[in-house]
Amino acid sequence: MQSAASILSQYPVLPRTYDFVTQKRKMYIDGEWVGASNGDTRPIIEPSTGEVLASVPEATMEDVDRAVVAARRAFTQGPWSTLKPYDRQQLLLKLADLIEANADAFAQLESLDNGKSVVAAREADVEGAIRFFRYMAGWATKLEGSTKTLSAPGSSMAYTLREPVGVVGAIVPWNFPFSMAAWKVAPALACGCTLVLKPAEFTPLSALLLAELIEQTGFPPGVFNVVTGNGSVAGSALSNHPLVDKIAFTGSTAVGKMVGHAAVENMTRTSLELGGKSPVIVLQDCDVQVAAQGAADAIFFNQGQVCCAGSRLYIHRKIYDQVVTELARIADNIHQAPGLDPACEMGPLVSRQQFEKVSSYIDLGVEEGAELVTGGHNSQGTGYFVKPTVLADTNNSMRVVQEEIFGPVVCAQPFDSIESVINSANDTPYGLGASIWSNNLSQVHQMIPRIQAGVVWVNTHNPVDPCLPFGGFKASGFGREQGREQLEHFLETKSVWLQL
Ligand code: NAD
Repeated sequence: MQSAASILSQYPVLPRTYDFVTQKRKMYIDGEWVGASNGDTRPIIEPSTGEVLASVPEATMEDVDRAVVAARRAFTQGPWSTLKPYDRQQLLLKLADLIEANADAFAQLESLDNGKSVVAAREADVEGAIRFFRYMAGWATKLEGSTKTLSAPGSSMAYTLREPVGVVGAIVPWNFPFSMAAWKVAPALACGCTLVLKPAEFTPLSALLLAELIEQTGFPPGVFNVVTGNGSVAGSALSNHPLVDKIAFTGSTAVGKMVGHAAVENMTRTSLELGGKSPVIVLQDCDVQVAAQGAADAIFFNQGQVCCAGSRLYIHRKIYDQVVTELARIADNIHQAPGLDPACEMGPLVSRQQFEKVSSYIDLGVEEGAELVTGGHNSQGTGYFVKPTVLADTNNSMRVVQEEIFGPVVCAQPFDSIESVINSANDTPYGLGASIWSNNLSQVHQMIPRIQAGVVWVNTHNPVDPCLPFGGFKASGFGREQGREQLEHFLETKSVWLQL
């Protein structure tokens, strides 16, 4: 038992949450709770105070190897390898029920770990994960191949089988720790794979609670393993491991490239969900109030730490001043507080590193000639709070417009024509999300095919649904998560030809 962080006396939490953070945590490997093989641990920092909240094992390469070997054994031998689709479906549904029963504890852990609002964590992250587990549970019984009519001469028949890809290495980021884990764990298990999950080093707690519930559900040992460790050791060991059949990675484009290079050496399948710099396009005919509120939500949700955050705002020149003024007013009224405060509308950023990175981008924007309409970083006080920030009169040659800031900073600029705004919207290395704000559906429909993005929202920004594929064009990665399309990444196709 370690001494409790001061936040826990300021904002009461459930006994389950309190015990979880104050007791020594272990990793879950091969159905056992273990420390790191060398005994090392990592402190977990609470972002609104900068205090130590909890500690977790710092996994070594040997720990990762042990987890992968366990997952391999569970995949090829034992009860999991012979479990019927219906039984996998039932296990996933039971797990979803357990997550629901522990939803408030998940939300509190997510808030303490990441800094986000506990209310948003409960409504978005945890509720979304429950729905996603149930959605993917349904697919376990609906995976099927097809019969083929061959054109070859002679008498033959052919069909395809869909088989689980094998051992999955799942590497996730810190911005939505539980959702991002769920997006990988649920489809992998539905398809009959086994897996090793590596949460981000800043935010491992919800993955460990998930492991407790997976154990309680009755998944056989080795089917699901969690290694808590840093990227350069544990993440790298996982993506280089020859017994891993598929890496499902979500994170930055820079690390995604490293993971992709490592994986291809072993011909490990990969899906890479990477960074973004998503445009919000506000057309002249829109409802200004709705569009300004939408643009604010698009960038300020989750402190702007969202891969598809609407970080580039293109506004028709005729309504530019109106939208920027209203956006700044909304930004100034956002209530910043620790995530556990029920009134919190924007919490701190996840870590000191992220605070420093985002702060330096705000300074850079001003140096590059942008107008700081409102916001800016707060270098005084405790915690990693950055004010909701609006940079105006930016242009596409600025680094703040081209590079992913991953914080509550929006770069606004006017446009004069549809042609020019489409060119500007496509003019970054990324292609994850985009939104168009307009009441002219004909115009909108003509724009959608011309926008290079994996998802285009109209009069909204950021919502996701279990049935709707999510992923990026260009440097935002390859592969899709959610929907039937995601299952392809966890399945192999085997063709069978019978000469009759
Ligand atoms: P990151 O790339 O630093 O880390 C992501 C994960 O990779 C972490 O678990 C980390 O420990 C691990 N890692 C780090 N170095 C590694 C290495 N050498 N080998 C293997 N693994 C390694 O990203 P982050 O800062 O945690 O997350 C923010 C990024 O994630 C942003 O770029 C954001 O856009 C992106 N993201 C993308 C999506 C999407 O669906 N496209 C969703 C959420 C976040």
